[in-house]
Amino acid sequence: MIIITEQRMKKYLVVGAGFAGAVVAERLAARGNCKVLVVDERPHIGGNCHSERDAATGVMVHTYGPHIFNTDIQKVWDYICQFCEMMPFTNRVKTIYEGKVYSMPINLHTINQFYGKALSPAEAREFIESISDKDIIEPRNFEEQAIKFIGPDLYKAFFYGYTKKQWGLEPRELPASILKRLPVRFNYNDNYYMHPYQGIPKEGYTAIFEKMLDSPNIEVKVDTKFDDHFDTTSFDHVFYTGPIDEFFGYKYGPLGYRTVYFERYEADGDFQGNAVINYADVTVPYTRIHEHKHFAPWEEHEKTVYMKEFSKETTEDDVPYYPIRLDKDMKRLEKYQKEVKRLNYFTFLGRLATYKYMDMDHVIAEALEVVENFE
Ligand code: FAD
Ligand code: UDP
Repeated sequence: MIIITEQRMKKYLVVGAGFAGAVVAERLAARGNCKVLVVDERPHIGGNCHSERDAATGVMVHTYGPHIFNTDIQKVWDYICQFCEMMPFTNRVKTIYEGKVYSMPINLHTINQFYGKALSPAEAREFIESISDKDIIEPRNFEEQAIKFIGPDLYKAFFYGYTKKQWGLEPRELPASILKRLPVRFNYNDNYYMHPYQGIPKEGYTAIFEKMLDSPNIEVKVDTKFDDHFDTTSFDHVFYTGPIDEFFGYKYGPLGYRTVYFERYEADGDFQGNAVINYADVTVPYTRIHEHKHFAPWEEHEKTVYMKEFSKETTEDDVPYYPIRLDKDMKRLEKYQKEVKRLNYFTFLGRLATYKYMDMDHVIAEALEVVENFE
C-alpha cells in the first residue's frame, strides 16, 4: 500500500515590498505549495526603487531618487533581466564647483580641468602621487582616505563640501568605506560605475515589482504597517525588511540615518542636459539635481521634470535612507542583532533590517541566498 502524505501549505509573511521583500516573495512562491503575504506601509510596491510616470510631463520619475542598476554579479543580472528589458545606460555625472563644471568621478579630465593642465595618464598619476599624503598608510576615516588617494586640493573641492552636506558630519568623522565606493581614474573614462553590467529598466522599476509579485501564491497589501499588533501566529516564518531598531521599539536607542528629500520643478525642453549634476560647494544647500528624462534617453518628452536633492538628519516621520554607521550606531546594532538571533521564526534582510549601505544588486543577491538556504 502506498501512503501519500499531503504536505501542509506553508504560509509566509514578508514585511516590505522593496527588492529584499519582493525577491524573497517571488522565490518562495516559485517553489509552490506555499502562500506568501507581502505587506508594505507605503501606498505602493517597489520600496525606494519605486518609479512612476509623472502625470504632468509623461516622464518616468524615480520617486525616491535616481536608481541606476549596476552589478558584477552575473546571477543577479540574469535574475533581474527575467523581469524587464534593461536598456543600456551609462551614468556620466558632472559636478559644479565655484561656478565651473567638472567631470565626476575623478578622472583624467577632472584632473586636467582642475589644474589647467594637459597631462597624460602617466604624468597625472605621478602628479597626484606627488601631492597626495604618503604618511597616511591605513586611512582611518573618509578624509584620510581621500587625501591619500587624490591629495588635499581635489578633496577640498569635490568631496569636503558635498560630503558635509550629504552626511551632516565632518568627513573625518565618517568611515573611509563610504569613499571607497567611488573610483579615481587616470584616463578619460567618466562612467560613474565600475561594474560590467549597467542599465535602467525600459518600463521603469515598478513594472519589475509588478511582474515579480504577480503569482497566485502571492498576496500584496499596501498601506499596511507591520507592528506589535500584527498577528503573526498563522505564519510559518516572517521575512522582515524594515528598520531593525523600529522592530525592537528602539529599546537600545535609534540607529543613525540620513534622509533625503526633493524639491520638484517642471520646465519646457532640457534643463541641465544631463541626468545628474552634483553641487560640490558647501554654500549650495542641495547636493545634486537629477533630471529624470535623461535616465530614459530612449524616450522623447517636450517637457522636463527635475529635482533638487537635499539631505538631513532622519527624524521620526522621515524615511530612513542612508545608514550612518558611526561607532555608537554599531554598538546599538550589535545589541539588536543579539535579539534577532533569539527569534526563530524571523529572518531579517535588506538595507534597513541589516543596517547596511547596500546597492540594489547586493540586496537582491542577499535575498536570493536567504531563500536558497531556507528549508
Ligand atoms: P527598501 O527599498 O527601503 O524597502 C523596504 C520597504 O519596507 C519599504 O517599502 C518600506 O515602506 C517597507 N517597510 C519598512 N518598515 C515597514 C513596516 N513596519 N511595515 C510595513 N512595511 C515596512 N542602489 C543602486 O543599486 N543604484 C542606485 O543608483 C541607487 N541609488 C540610490 C539613490 C538613493 C537616493 C537611495 C536612498 C538609495 C539608492 N540605492 C541605489 C540603493 C537602493 O535604494 C537600495 O539598495 C534598495 O532600495 C534596498 O531595498 P530594500 O528592499 O532593502 O529596502
Ligand atoms: N561624494 C562626494 N562628492 C561627489 C560624489 C560623492 O563627496 O560628487 C561622496 C559622498 O560622501 C557620497 C560618497 O562619496 O556619500 C559615495 O558616493 P555615491 O555617489 O556612491 O553615493 P550615493 O549614490 O549612495 O548617494
